[in-house]
Amino acid sequence: MPDTQVLAERPDRDQVAEYDAIVIGAGISGMFMLYRLRELGLTVRVFEAGTNVGGTWYWNRYPGARFDSESWTYGYSFSKELMREWDWKEHFSPQPDTLEYLNHVADKFDLRRDIQFRSTVTAAHWDDAGDQWSVTLESGQRAKSRFLFTAIGILSAHTLPAIPGRDSFNGPAYHPARWPHTPVDFTGKRVGIIGTGATAIQAIPEIAKQAKQLTVFQRRPNWAAPLHNSRIGKDEMEAIKSRYEEIYAHCARTPSWFIHEADPRKTLDVPPDEREAFWEKRYAEPGFGIWMGNFRDILVDEKANAAISEFIAKKIRQRVKDPKVAEKLIPKDHGFGSRRVPLESGYFEAYNRDNVTLVDTINDEPIECITSKGIKTSKQEREFDILIYATGFDGVTGAFDRIDIRGANGIGLKDAWAESPRTFLGMLAEGFPNMLMVLGPHTARGNIPQAIEHSVEFQTGILRFMREHNHTHVETRKEQVDEWTRTVIKAAEPLLSSKVDSWQTGVNRNVEGRTVRRVLGYNGNGVHFRRKTDEVAKGGYQEFAFR
Ligand code: NAP
Repeated sequence: MPDTQVLAERPDRDQVAEYDAIVIGAGISGMFMLYRLRELGLTVRVFEAGTNVGGTWYWNRYPGARFDSESWTYGYSFSKELMREWDWKEHFSPQPDTLEYLNHVADKFDLRRDIQFRSTVTAAHWDDAGDQWSVTLESGQRAKSRFLFTAIGILSAHTLPAIPGRDSFNGPAYHPARWPHTPVDFTGKRVGIIGTGATAIQAIPEIAKQAKQLTVFQRRPNWAAPLHNSRIGKDEMEAIKSRYEEIYAHCARTPSWFIHEADPRKTLDVPPDEREAFWEKRYAEPGFGIWMGNFRDILVDEKANAAISEFIAKKIRQRVKDPKVAEKLIPKDHGFGSRRVPLESGYFEAYNRDNVTLVDTINDEPIECITSKGIKTSKQEREFDILIYATGFDGVTGAFDRIDIRGANGIGLKDAWAESPRTFLGMLAEGFPNMLMVLGPHTARGNIPQAIEHSVEFQTGILRFMREHNHTHVETRKEQVDEWTRTVIKAAEPLLSSKVDSWQTGVNRNVEGRTVRRVLGYNGNGVHFRRKTDEVAKGGYQEFAFR
């Protein structure tokens, strides 16, 4: 992938440029926001930390990285021309193809001229007197704007493991979210990887094919199911294109905006043979059907969840030859689907290879420290040439916390959200005028690109309304924030996932202070969410205070 970025002209350090809108981030959210804001005739500057567009798909270049949602439901749908001209090559697009797609979008709509790369935003302060935002970059450069859009993703604040000696390793050490732009050659190398989340589950089978020895340090296993990826032929792609409208309309009608929809039956109402046959079918099909297209109660009913968990455990036992290793790969602390299910391509079979070793860091060999040569456990010092920290992210609020965001009267967003995020629709926070968040906490976000498009359309709708009514200042109201926060918390209550530790529930053992369970997303029905935003728009945005 050529790095063909054209840098938007960078003003002098002392010069404070003024724009109508500043967007933080040039991933899928920021790119589309820029496109729509330009259409409104606004002057826009996007600040992006990377050297090119793509966000998640720019940073996460690790081996095996790919969509685990169907490519043809995971692109932009705002431009029919773009949909017509772009051919997805695989049902679950590999990262290089996705990045190529996003570069194509940037070229096609000439987005880069308003994007300033290598520009990390460190602070954004609301100026009460000037009624505008003042944004500061790591370089010291400053800029001002009436509106601030955060398009910083939910998984962009990566976390390194809090293990003593982490920086003392002599060889190369990588986090998958900061993977080098030139491919890493594992040939003949002894590789250690810490973590067994969705990222590692994609990377491990690929690295195992090349490395001399791959040692996986697992703290807690995750449930995973097969992706069943395949190539898309020309005729098949044409057929998909002819159905795009129907496909996207269908997604918009499902609770998580995916093509998959839950089976209306309850697990234990279905006779065991029929249930087993249904699960076999789902397990053999591509994509998230085994998770989202399962019986409707598997994510809320303990007994139903135990039954599907046992089915998946059986599959792991069938696929992993060594029974002891298989048992270690079966989660015991949470049920299937109660954490985000990674979809895999040969993950379990990787442990059948002679060059792959699984180390259980809870029950067998706790990690004591990282040394110059490798990883020292309670039993031995294991030596490596390369280390990989696939240790995840400070999800959802982490990226906000890394920017000093201050609203009216200097109130800090981090302080305002110390106990829990509080927003209206996950898009506006109380006390932060003219700041709109794409993929903010408490928004609906099943199928992420579709959630992004929906948010951008809603938010630019607010701006259009403001222009028509000569408003320059928008805020959310306390009562709306209270009500939405209650709605979000209530929607999470019945879910088994709410009781489990994960980046989605805010309990992240790798980040200091992330020990309190919080609801970080709207887990209600996406159809209801669309209805709610439509009602707000049709009702003339009465939920907001305008000036
Ligand atoms: P993750 O799911 O949070 O996994 C992090 C892993 O690192 C966990 O296994 C964790 O163990 C382990 N870990 C963290 N600190 C550790 C330490 N100090 N010692 C030992 N182990 C440690 O992170 P991720 O795999 O990067 O995935 C995050 C999310 O990104 C996914 O849930 C998914 O939403 C998204 N993702 C999507 C795709 C895709 O769309 N294709 C691909 C990859 C990721 P514990 O579980 O014990 O904490």
